[in-house]
Amino acid sequence: MQEIVLIKNGELVLKGLNRCTFEDILIKNMRKALSSIGEFKFKKSQSTIMVQPVDDDTDLDDAVEALKKVFGIAALSRAAVAEKDMQSITETALEYLAEELEYARTFKVEAKRSDKKFPMKSPEICRELGGSILSKFHHLKVDVHNPDITVTVEVRDSFAFIRGNNIKGAGGMPVGTSGRAATLISGGIDSPVASYMMAKRGIELVAVHFASPPYTTQLAEQKVMDLLKKVAAYSGPITTYIVPFTKLQEEIRDKCPEVYFTIIMRRYMMRIAEKLARHQNCSALITGESVGQVASQTIYALGCTDAVATMPVFRPCIGMDKDEIITISRKIDTFETSIQPYEDCCTVFTPKHPKTRPSTAEIEAAEAILDTDTLIQEAIDNVRKVVIHG
Ligand code: ATP
Ligand code: MG
Repeated sequence: MQEIVLIKNGELVLKGLNRCTFEDILIKNMRKALSSIGEFKFKKSQSTIMVQPVDDDTDLDDAVEALKKVFGIAALSRAAVAEKDMQSITETALEYLAEELEYARTFKVEAKRSDKKFPMKSPEICRELGGSILSKFHHLKVDVHNPDITVTVEVRDSFAFIRGNNIKGAGGMPVGTSGRAATLISGGIDSPVASYMMAKRGIELVAVHFASPPYTTQLAEQKVMDLLKKVAAYSGPITTYIVPFTKLQEEIRDKCPEVYFTIIMRRYMMRIAEKLARHQNCSALITGESVGQVASQTIYALGCTDAVATMPVFRPCIGMDKDEIITISRKIDTFETSIQPYEDCCTVFTPKHPKTRPSTAEIEAAEAILDTDTLIQEAIDNVRKVVIHG
C-alpha cells in the first residue's frame, strides 16, 4: 500500500496572488527539513501539497515528526493511496485504518470529490464506506458531531486518498516569506522563545550572542549553541555571530556610574547587533524582553535601550508572564537547556541597585566618556561566525 503525507497550508491560502511564491518557499523548507530522512516528491493541488516518498522503505514516522516543525503548515495527515473505485477505497480504508478503528469508539466518514466524474456522490461514498466499517468493527458507533476518528476519503484526479485524523501542524508562515531579522540570543529562557515566535511569522533568523570570557565560560557558549540548534529545527539554519564583549563590559564598569551599568551594556548590545544585522540584510532585531521582568526591562529602561536602535525591535514576549513563556519553551524543548546554571554576560557586574526609571538623557551623559566607535569596531573585528543547523 502506498502512503503519502498531505499538507494543509495555513495562512498561505489568504495570500492571493503571492500564494504560488509562498507555496514554493514552503516546499523548499519541507525539502530541507526532510533531507536527512529521504527523497520526496512534492505536488501542489488546490489547498493541499502532497508529499510522496520516492523509496517505499522511507520512514514516514520520521518524516511526519520533521514536518510538524515546518512553519506554514496548519495540519498534516498521512494518507493511503487507493484506486478510484469503491471496492479499492473500502479495502484500503479497512486495512489502513484497522488499528485506529479498533481503538476508537465512535467514527464518521467524510468524502470529498474533486473529480466530479466519479460515479458516486459524496454522501453515497460515506454511506457505503460507513456501512463496511460498521460490519467489520462491531463495537463502533457513528457520531457525526464528535467522533474519535474521522475517516476521510478524497477522490482526486488520478487516485483516491484515505486518511484518519489530522495532525496539528506548526502553524505560522513559511520561514523566508517575511524577511530577515537578527535575534539577540542569551542562554536564558526568553530569547529562544522570542526567536521561535518570530520565525513562526515567517522571519529568517540570524543570531547574535555576546560572550564575556573569562567571566563567561565555553560551557555557557555551548549552551547557547544547543539552544539555537533547537530553534533551528523550526527556523532552518541560523547564521550566528559570537561577539567578544569583555572589553566593553570592563570599560563600562570602570568608567560609568554603577546604577546605569546594565542599561548602557544593553545599548551597546543593540548597536553591535544592528551593525551585524545590516551586514546580513536583516531589517529588524529580536529580543526576549518582557515588561517589568527585571530592572532593565521597565518601560523607561526599554525606552533608553530602544533609543540607540534605528531598526524596529521585535519583542514578542513583551506582554507575556514568565509561566506563559515557559510553556512555549517546554513545547519547543529549550527549557531544560535554558535552566542549566551558566553565567550569562548580563549577570556579570550586575549593579546592586540598578536605576529603574532612567532617562535617555542621563544615560547618554553617563556613557559619553566611552569611545563608542572604537569599542564597537573592536568587538565587530573579532566576532566569530558559525552556522547552526537544526
Ligand atoms: P533571557 O531569558 O532571554 O536571557 P532575561 O529575562 O534573562 O532574558 P536579560 O538577561 O535582561 O533578560 O536579557 C534581555 C534580552 O537581551 C534577552 O532576552 C536577549 O534577547 C538579550 N540578551 C541578553 N543577554 C544576551 C547575550 N549574552 N547575548 C545576546 N543577547 C542577549
Ligand atoms: Mg538573560
